[in-house]
Amino acid sequence: MQPVQPGRMMDFPLTLTHFVERARTFFPKSELVSTLADKTQCRMTYGDFSSRVAKLAHALTTKLGVKPGDRVATLAFNHQPHVEAYFAIPCIGAVIHTLNLRLHPTELGYIAKHGEDVVVLCDEALLPLLEKFKNDVPSLRKVVVFSPDPQKKRTSPLPDGFLDYEELIAGEPDRFDWPALDENSAAMLCYTSGTTGNPKGVLYSHRSTVLHSLVTMARENMGVGGDDVVLPVVPMFHAAAWGIPFAAIACGAKMVFGGGHFDPVTLLDLMASERVTFSAGVPTIWIGILAALDAEPKRWDLSSMRTMVIGGSAAPPALIDGFATRYGLEVTHAWGMTETNPLGTLARVKPHLRSGSPEQLLAMRASQGFAVTFVEQRHTDETGRVLPWDGETMGELEVRGPWVAKSYFGDEGADRFTKDGWFKTGDVVTIDGEGYVRITDRSKDVVKSGGEWISSVQLENALMSHPAVLEAAVFAARHPKWDERPVAAVVLKPNRTCSEQDLAACLDGKFAKYWMPDKFLFVEQIPRTSTGKFLKSRLRELYGDVLVK
Ligand code: ADP
Repeated sequence: MQPVQPGRMMDFPLTLTHFVERARTFFPKSELVSTLADKTQCRMTYGDFSSRVAKLAHALTTKLGVKPGDRVATLAFNHQPHVEAYFAIPCIGAVIHTLNLRLHPTELGYIAKHGEDVVVLCDEALLPLLEKFKNDVPSLRKVVVFSPDPQKKRTSPLPDGFLDYEELIAGEPDRFDWPALDENSAAMLCYTSGTTGNPKGVLYSHRSTVLHSLVTMARENMGVGGDDVVLPVVPMFHAAAWGIPFAAIACGAKMVFGGGHFDPVTLLDLMASERVTFSAGVPTIWIGILAALDAEPKRWDLSSMRTMVIGGSAAPPALIDGFATRYGLEVTHAWGMTETNPLGTLARVKPHLRSGSPEQLLAMRASQGFAVTFVEQRHTDETGRVLPWDGETMGELEVRGPWVAKSYFGDEGADRFTKDGWFKTGDVVTIDGEGYVRITDRSKDVVKSGGEWISSVQLENALMSHPAVLEAAVFAARHPKWDERPVAAVVLKPNRTCSEQDLAACLDGKFAKYWMPDKFLFVEQIPRTSTGKFLKSRLRELYGDVLVK
């Protein structure tokens, strides 16, 4: 499109280079705190960080021969050197490809081969995993190993041919003459976790990542700012840790990383000792954290916490309410996908709705919210007809915006992009008159009983409000008459009991009769995807026939 009357403003590229130089110039004293394997902390400043980013950029270009456009992979948990890779790789014009270490080695091999990764930066603890798929990746030339403690000399020798990250960057200049990059250059490659077929690559650009960071910093949305202490629990190998490290570096926020520790006690210790103000993760993490708080309500001082973002799968209202009423802690519920860089919608209660009843307010906070600035939303039926925002009509959510994928990396998945420029999310939703989106299911998880759709998410949320229930996942079991019927797999809290009748009673009256699960299964744990979501396909494999036998 050509402007009719061109504006007279500078054409200044939106690139990550600006963020890293901004960190050096304005925030050299801000801190980065990484948790090591033994749970002690390694502390550095943004000053150290920006020098190390430059050193890594030199090492990648001169010692490892990385060229613009090359894919450089990481196989690593959350820590500062991983953030260094987040910036050094894209700022030399190459593409960082974060490998999801929770995937099966065969899938990892497929993804790294598909991405044609030339170098991988790997945590030492993950070398055995790398070994399992490394030979499936013909393009891979070099393996660089992050040191267990960046501030100490490595004590154990590395296998032949592997390079130590600290040795690699030591002695390199601490400034880099960054190349001028087009803002539409690719910066990062993330793969979907393959719960809907083969993993598909999504190629974020500098521009999409920068714009996404600005919105992450906006008070309207997550509001990450320079006075925050940010602990991203969401892994850096999953959709760029929801873009949080980019936003934090851009505004000089102190960052805290849990390394490979995801247990509630370690995370709560970190939140309390580092005075964390902002954290983010999937519901599973927060369910564990709330249970730990309930077990020892006085142990941790979380008074510094401003908000905790929950996303990746539906945050049960009982979880949001539990944090608020028992601990005065605010949850921000957000929806997104790898394909949306990933923030798409966020549940903010609009000012004129704040006088609603506690139940209405909770219902809004527990919805997926409405599209953040620059993202647009609609939902459609199977024929592509746009549906009304009446809070009842279910359809597939579609989104568009400057950080929504327009195609995948490779030829896959072309049918997810509509002719008129929207991305089909695969999520079944209703949208109400105020624009609040409510996910009733992923399209492949919806229970189709006698032609009617039943929302597993709503049933799960209701079950998880029962005081004895820790987690509940509702899935479609085969049924001779109705094709599919809902069955609930339930994990009880430790030392709690309850019967199938109790659970049925807790749903009674809240839903149409035909929504009532035909069976409640008490299980030890619910199978999960590599990103911590309930793996309903596995539940269907395990228990899909419970109603026919
Ligand atoms: P994958 O598609 O491989 O699971 P993603 O992390 O990209 O990997 O998952 C995106 C999906 O996660 C969305 O399409 C949606 O189904 C689900 N999701 C994300 N956030 C939420 C949320 N707040 N509530 C319900 N579902 C969510």
